[in-house]
Amino acid sequence: MGGLDDLYQQLILDHYRNRRGRGRIEGASASVHEHNPVCGDECYLDILVEDGRIAEIRADGDGCSISQAAASMLTEVAAGKDLDEALMLVEHFRLVMHGEAQPDEDLLGDAVALEGVAKYPVRVKCALLSWLALRECIADYRETVATGG
Ligand code: ZN
Repeated sequence: MGGLDDLYQQLILDHYRNRRGRGRIEGASASVHEHNPVCGDECYLDILVEDGRIAEIRADGDGCSISQAAASMLTEVAAGKDLDEALMLVEHFRLVMHGEAQPDEDLLGDAVALEGVAKYPVRVKCALLSWLALRECIADYRETVATGG
């Protein structure tokens, strides 16, 4: 029986009850709104990009404990990363959630606690919502920069 599972459960609850990086960014470089109709989770993700890095990242919205904890964990671990690093991080987490990679704790930080979610396909969407919103945000940002907007 899992001491580790208990620890992970505590970590998820802690992030859910005490959301890190919650809110919006005024004058954000990119903003994305994602919705998970299966569960009713909402995520508003804002990033501020400076010198090719995520200078600030905030997530707002509501939903189940998994979706909100995942958003909280994301803001902690993605802050300060350059955009390519952030995309690699998202891709790693996506593979872990689909059971296609072993979680790298150094990379994922507290989000390693979500690895058990991979066993519940319905909840995988909850965990990925904010993370895929970040991928979308970075794509939008790059498109804006490329078109000079
Ligand atoms: Zn959910």
